[in-house]
Amino acid sequence: MNYQLILEEIEKEIQPFLNEGKLANYIPALASVDDKKFAMSIHLFDGTSYHIGDSSLKFSIQSISKVFTFTLALNYYGKDLYKRVGHEPSGDPFNSLIQLEYENGIPRNPFINAGAIVTADSLVSIYKKNTFDTILDFIKKTSNDETIKHDKEIFKSELANGFKNFALINMIKSYNNIYNDIDDVIKTYFKQCSIMMDTSQLAKSMLFLANHGINPLTNEQIITESKAKRINSLMLTCGHYDASGDFAYKVGLPGKSGVGGGIVAVVPKKMAICVYSPKLNLQGNSLVGTIALELFTTKTGLSIF
Ligand code: GLU
Repeated sequence: MNYQLILEEIEKEIQPFLNEGKLANYIPALASVDDKKFAMSIHLFDGTSYHIGDSSLKFSIQSISKVFTFTLALNYYGKDLYKRVGHEPSGDPFNSLIQLEYENGIPRNPFINAGAIVTADSLVSIYKKNTFDTILDFIKKTSNDETIKHDKEIFKSELANGFKNFALINMIKSYNNIYNDIDDVIKTYFKQCSIMMDTSQLAKSMLFLANHGINPLTNEQIITESKAKRINSLMLTCGHYDASGDFAYKVGLPGKSGVGGGIVAVVPKKMAICVYSPKLNLQGNSLVGTIALELFTTKTGLSIF
């Protein structure tokens, strides 16, 4: 298949949609990015890769970081993690408080904010003051890239404005499902969200999920086959908040979005993909990114269905 040609076609076809959607301005530092940017990268198991647009432009990975933290926590705790965070779609917005109260502080899944905050807490219990460095080192390992870092301005901007997330963590703490100091946990969460990567690095970092938990480029086992299956399932059912069903319907791949404008997607046994376009749809997922991935699976027939 001529992937480069397919990417070029996609780039042409998404042009009319680049004016639609809105930047995530509830984190002020995210509102200053160039809103017309588009990039897409594919990494295959044999080390070949294909790119379109500015695939070396770094952007804030935001909720895509939840895939890495969930992987680390699942690796350590196994099934016990599900006593504190579930694995069902929420059907609610990414930062919703409502369900948490009904469900006694147990978030529905690790990919909504509440679930990612509990996951971050579970990592702070293990790695203490080194938690963020452990997360960053893990991302460097899965993407085989030592240069990755976080953006201090975006971190500070979210720390100063992330009122909903403060509300979530306090609510969860009131149900005794946060074990560590709120400040340490929320800072870890905001820092992981402010990690900067480009589409090429992100696609590469997800290859282990396309290959039963083994990084096909290094042959390193990152996680067991069974756990890789669970992570992919959750990406399919919960990776796009209350638009997860819509994403599965249109794209048909496990994926995870972030309000920075990135979406990663996994084609089992073949490749990992990342697309970037910062303007979001109403559910907080990249509007053009979702369209580009839908075009990709339509043109290639590479959906899992
Ligand atoms: N840092 C963002 C927040 O907590 C992550 C949300 C997202 O990327 O979807 O609001």
